[in-house]
Amino acid sequence: MTKKEFLKNEFRPTCHDCGVKVGKKHVEGCDVQRCSACKGQRLSCDCGRNGLPDNHNPNRSKWTGYWPGVVECVKLGWFSKLIPGKGWQPTTIDDPEAVADLNRWAREQRHATEKG
Ligand SMILES: [Zn+2]
Ligand SMILES: [Zn+2]
Repeated sequence: MTKKEFLKNEFRPTCHDCGVKVGKKHVEGCDVQRCSACKGQRLSCDCGRNGLPDNHNPNRSKWTGYWPGVVECVKLGWFSKLIPGKGWQPTTIDDPEAVADLNRWAREQRHATEKG
């Protein structure tokens, strides 16, 4: 499968959770929305809590048609699949069961944020 085909299959015209269309801001409380400041999940990030400043800008975190991280994973060639008894294992785009490796992406995001 090509990267283009993979992304075509992943495309959703509306947000999985809050249902907004591509290019629209997520509804507050949507669990897909990412925080534009820390790149974490907006629902569970600490921005604006515990005395931390809230630099999240909803205009920079609109629904793009793809689950956050999917496009990045495809670009980077990060794919995984669930193998019974073994959990998520790395694979390639040519594997029919390949999905974007969002766990790896989330890990790398956290590293990037920690480094500043
Ligand atoms: Zn949403
Ligand atoms: Zn945040």
